Amino acid sequence: MSKLVVQYAPIGVFALIAVVFAKQGAKVVGPLGVVTMACFLGYIIHLLIVYGGLLSLSRLNYITFLKGAKEAMVTAFVTRSSSGTLPVTMTCADDNLGVSKNVYSFTLPLGATINMDGTAIYQGVCALFIGFAVGLPLSLPQQLTVILTAVLASIGTAGVPGAGAIMLLLVLTSVGLPIEQGSPVAAAYAMILGIDAILDMGRTCINVTGDLTGTVIVAKSEKLLNLNKWK
Ligand code: ASP
Repeated sequence: MSKLVVQYAPIGVFALIAVVFAKQGAKVVGPLGVVTMACFLGYIIHLLIVYGGLLSLSRLNYITFLKGAKEAMVTAFVTRSSSGTLPVTMTCADDNLGVSKNVYSFTLPLGATINMDGTAIYQGVCALFIGFAVGLPLSLPQQLTVILTAVLASIGTAGVPGAGAIMLLLVLTSVGLPIEQGSPVAAAYAMILGIDAILDMGRTCINVTGDLTGTVIVAKSEKLLNLNKWK
């Protein structure tokens, strides 16, 4: 079933991207462009440095990994759901990356539930943006609080579209920026919500890639990785 879905994915990908960009594309080039750029810069740095670094520490080829993970990454990007992408992520782990079912049947559902690196990056960027937007830039201790609460909030975020934006409320409250009706914080939050679909595409892609990164590293350390697929 998941192979069938993957086969038809390019058509769905095109249609989903067209809808999101037609509705929200113009907003992304406006004042919210900096937020979008900062989020995507964070995602790309995380993808290259953190995942690339962890894989090379485990002596696994990063390019081979990206080739094997690409269907899951694209599906996550367009569906905006780690949970919805799970069957494709499992197919990539099994067929392309040679991970034993004993490992991925545990790590991938767990990762799709609690491992949300992209969501934590997004929440950090948005908390900083909202602080600036309402004229109360976050101090260093507040920024450290954001790091902690964003990691915790991302763990509690469900793997469905838009869930990270709801959990962002928790991060904002932790630094004294609660959302109250008619307040400037509420207005700034509403601005973020306007482009959330585009930010969600990137963060879900990072979330799913993180699940696969952890999975192949665990599989290698447990000697449950078919290294022939990596040649
Ligand atoms: N859409 C994300 C995911 O499924 C969660 C989020 O909204 O941050 O991984």
